[in-house]
Amino acid sequence: MSEEIEPHLKIKAAFLFTAILILLMPAASASSVGAYNVQVTNEYVKATALCSCGLNSYHYMTGCFENYCPICHSYGTLTFNPKGTPEGEWTCSKCGCDYCAADGKEKMPGSDIFLIPYTIPKPTNTTVTKVHAQNVTEDVSEVNLLNKIEYYCNKNFLNS
Ligand SMILES: [Zn+2]
Ligand SMILES: [Zn+2]
Repeated sequence: MSEEIEPHLKIKAAFLFTAILILLMPAASASSVGAYNVQVTNEYVKATALCSCGLNSYHYMTGCFENYCPICHSYGTLTFNPKGTPEGEWTCSKCGCDYCAADGKEKMPGSDIFLIPYTIPKPTNTTVTKVHAQNVTEDVSEVNLLNKIEYYCNKNFLNS
């Protein structure tokens, strides 16, 4: 009995698997144009996204901009894609202006207003200073040690 049932189950499983694949495929292709590495802080916004304003070719670019809307002059109002565009975009929560997530261009046709590019500061200077200070300290202690040895040698020589 079990040998008769098994082939039917296999066909059913294969059919189910194909059906799931067909259902998943449109969702997968729709999300494949979405942005990634999205970061929002009070100071800046950052995302790797496709250019959706037509300024650049349709390829991924990483855009990092000040969290500042140059249209209504507000700080910290940029939000990522509240309108749900496939590529993603920055939208000002105060005035509703949309900006390309790749290059920061305002999307209104004819507009040449851009978000202000932002460079994330790298805290490397303090580390370099610390290493340098350590080297200096080592040099000084080495000199002191040599001086001490010299002093004791002379003292012993004089005493003997
Ligand atoms: Zn663009
Ligand atoms: Zn605004």
